[in-house]
Amino acid sequence: MVKEAKMGDMEELVSDFSRFYILTILYEGPAYGYSILSRFKKRVGKEVSPSLVYPFLQQLEEKGLVKHTMKSVGEKRKKVFELTREGRELCLGLFKRFAGLVSAAIEPSLQICAHCGCKVYEGGYREVIDGIETTFCCIHCAESYKEEKRFSKSLVEEVR
Ligand SMILES: [Zn+2]
Repeated sequence: MVKEAKMGDMEELVSDFSRFYILTILYEGPAYGYSILSRFKKRVGKEVSPSLVYPFLQQLEEKGLVKHTMKSVGEKRKKVFELTREGRELCLGLFKRFAGLVSAAIEPSLQICAHCGCKVYEGGYREVIDGIETTFCCIHCAESYKEEKRFSKSLVEEVR
Protein backbone atom coordinates (compact mmCIF):
# COMPACT_ATOMS: atom_id res chain seq x y z
CA MET A 1 0.00 0.00 0.00
CA VAL A 2 2.77 2.41 0.97
CA LYS A 3 4.54 1.62 -2.26
CA GLU A 4 1.44 2.40 -4.28
CA ALA A 5 0.97 5.73 -2.52
CA LYS A 6 4.60 6.64 -3.20
CA MET A 7 4.23 5.70 -6.82
CA GLY A 8 1.24 8.01 -7.04
CA ASP A 9 3.29 10.89 -5.64
CA MET A 10 6.01 10.11 -8.09
CA GLU A 11 3.68 10.19 -11.07
CA GLU A 12 2.29 13.49 -9.93
CA LEU A 13 5.78 14.94 -9.69
CA VAL A 14 6.68 13.75 -13.15
CA SER A 15 3.51 15.16 -14.60
CA ASP A 16 4.22 18.55 -13.00
CA PHE A 17 7.72 18.43 -14.40
CA SER A 18 6.22 17.68 -17.81
CA ARG A 19 4.05 20.78 -17.61
CA PHE A 20 7.03 22.82 -16.59
CA TYR A 21 8.99 21.45 -19.52
CA ILE A 22 6.16 22.15 -21.98
CA LEU A 23 6.34 25.77 -20.87
CA THR A 24 10.07 25.90 -21.64
CA ILE A 25 9.35 24.59 -25.17
CA LEU A 26 6.61 27.17 -25.72
CA TYR A 27 8.92 29.87 -24.43
CA GLU A 28 11.33 29.18 -27.29
CA GLY A 29 8.70 30.22 -29.83
CA PRO A 30 5.50 29.19 -31.64
CA ALA A 31 5.06 25.42 -32.04
CA TYR A 32 2.62 22.86 -33.45
CA GLY A 33 1.15 20.44 -30.94
CA TYR A 34 3.05 17.54 -32.47
CA SER A 35 6.32 19.46 -32.47
CA ILE A 36 5.88 20.04 -28.73
CA LEU A 37 5.51 16.27 -28.35
CA SER A 38 8.56 15.48 -30.47
CA ARG A 39 10.78 18.16 -28.89
CA PHE A 40 9.80 16.89 -25.49
CA LYS A 41 10.81 13.36 -26.43
CA LYS A 42 14.08 14.49 -27.99
CA ARG A 43 15.20 16.44 -24.92
CA VAL A 44 13.72 14.53 -22.03
CA GLY A 45 14.21 11.11 -23.62
CA LYS A 46 10.69 10.12 -22.69
CA GLU A 47 7.30 10.35 -24.39
CA VAL A 48 4.79 12.83 -23.04
CA SER A 49 1.15 11.86 -23.43
CA PRO A 50 -0.95 13.99 -25.81
CA SER A 51 -3.69 13.65 -23.18
CA LEU A 52 -1.52 15.76 -20.89
CA VAL A 53 -0.25 18.23 -23.49
CA TYR A 54 -3.50 19.21 -25.22
CA PRO A 55 -5.67 19.82 -22.14
CA PHE A 56 -2.78 21.78 -20.63
CA LEU A 57 -2.52 23.95 -23.76
CA GLN A 58 -6.27 24.48 -23.65
CA GLN A 59 -6.12 25.55 -20.00
CA LEU A 60 -3.32 27.97 -20.74
CA GLU A 61 -5.38 29.34 -23.60
CA GLU A 62 -8.46 29.78 -21.42
CA LYS A 63 -6.32 31.76 -18.99
CA GLY A 64 -5.06 34.00 -21.79
CA LEU A 65 -1.50 32.72 -21.47
CA VAL A 66 -1.39 30.88 -24.81
CA LYS A 67 -3.05 31.66 -28.14
CA HIS A 68 -3.23 29.65 -31.35
CA THR A 69 -3.35 30.45 -35.04
CA MET A 70 -4.24 28.09 -37.90
CA LYS A 71 -1.61 27.27 -40.50
CA SER A 72 -1.95 25.23 -43.69
CA VAL A 73 0.36 22.25 -43.81
CA GLY A 74 -0.20 20.54 -47.16
CA GLU A 75 -3.93 19.79 -47.25
CA LYS A 76 -4.39 20.13 -43.55
CA ARG A 77 -4.97 23.10 -41.27
CA LYS A 78 -2.96 22.87 -38.10
CA LYS A 79 -2.87 24.82 -34.87
CA VAL A 80 0.28 26.73 -33.97
CA PHE A 81 0.48 27.52 -30.28
CA GLU A 82 2.36 30.42 -28.80
CA LEU A 83 2.62 32.19 -25.48
CA THR A 84 0.91 35.55 -25.12
CA ARG A 85 2.84 38.44 -23.63
CA GLU A 86 1.35 37.69 -20.25
CA GLY A 87 2.20 34.01 -20.66
CA ARG A 88 5.82 34.84 -21.46
CA GLU A 89 6.13 37.07 -18.43
CA LEU A 90 4.68 34.42 -16.19
CA CYS A 91 6.98 31.74 -17.57
CA LEU A 92 10.03 33.90 -17.14
CA GLY A 93 9.05 34.44 -13.50
CA LEU A 94 8.68 30.70 -12.95
CA PHE A 95 12.01 29.91 -14.65
CA LYS A 96 13.87 32.49 -12.60
CA ARG A 97 12.36 31.14 -9.45
CA PHE A 98 13.33 27.61 -10.44
CA ALA A 99 16.88 28.73 -11.28
CA GLY A 100 17.03 30.48 -7.91
CA LEU A 101 15.98 27.32 -6.09
CA VAL A 102 18.64 25.35 -7.93
CA SER A 103 21.41 27.84 -7.07
CA ALA A 104 20.31 27.92 -3.44
CA ALA A 105 20.56 24.11 -3.33
CA ILE A 106 24.12 24.10 -4.69
CA GLU A 107 25.25 27.15 -2.72
CA PRO A 108 23.39 26.85 0.57
CA SER A 109 25.04 29.93 2.10
CA LEU A 110 23.63 32.09 -0.64
CA GLN A 111 20.26 33.72 -0.14
CA ILE A 112 18.24 33.94 -3.31
CA CYS A 113 15.10 35.92 -3.88
CA ALA A 114 12.45 33.21 -4.22
CA HIS A 115 10.69 35.21 -6.90
CA CYS A 116 13.15 36.89 -9.27
CA GLY A 117 16.14 34.69 -8.45
CA CYS A 118 18.53 37.56 -7.74
CA LYS A 119 21.13 37.20 -4.99
CA VAL A 120 20.24 38.72 -1.65
CA TYR A 121 23.42 39.63 0.23
CA GLU A 122 21.94 41.43 3.19
CA GLY A 123 18.67 42.92 4.21
CA GLY A 124 16.09 41.72 1.76
CA TYR A 125 12.58 40.88 2.82
CA ARG A 126 11.41 37.75 4.64
CA GLU A 127 7.95 36.33 4.94
CA VAL A 128 6.57 33.03 6.18
CA ILE A 129 4.63 31.43 3.31
CA ASP A 130 2.87 28.09 3.84
CA GLY A 131 4.91 27.67 7.02
CA ILE A 132 8.28 28.21 5.35
CA GLU A 133 10.41 31.30 5.92
CA THR A 134 11.03 32.63 2.44
CA THR A 135 13.57 35.25 1.36
CA PHE A 136 12.90 37.95 -1.21
CA CYS A 137 14.90 40.94 -2.40
CA CYS A 138 11.89 43.21 -1.82
CA ILE A 139 8.23 43.21 -0.81
CA HIS A 140 7.09 43.45 -4.46
CA CYS A 141 8.78 40.16 -5.25
CA ALA A 142 6.99 38.61 -2.26
CA GLU A 143 3.62 39.79 -3.62
CA SER A 144 4.29 38.44 -7.14
CA TYR A 145 5.57 35.18 -5.68
CA LYS A 146 2.32 34.62 -3.77
CA GLU A 147 0.30 35.45 -6.85
CA GLU A 148 2.23 32.98 -9.05
CA LYS A 149 1.98 30.35 -6.36
CA ARG A 150 -1.81 30.67 -6.37
CA PHE A 151 -1.74 30.47 -10.15
CA SER A 152 0.35 27.31 -10.36
CA LYS A 153 -1.75 25.72 -7.62
CA SER A 154 -4.92 26.36 -9.60
CA LEU A 155 -3.37 24.81 -12.71
CA VAL A 156 -2.49 21.61 -10.90
CA GLU A 157 -5.90 21.37 -9.24
CA GLU A 158 -7.78 21.81 -12.49
CA VAL A 159 -5.92 19.04 -14.24
CA ARG A 160 -6.77 16.50 -11.54
ZN1 LIG B 1 13.33 39.65 -6.18
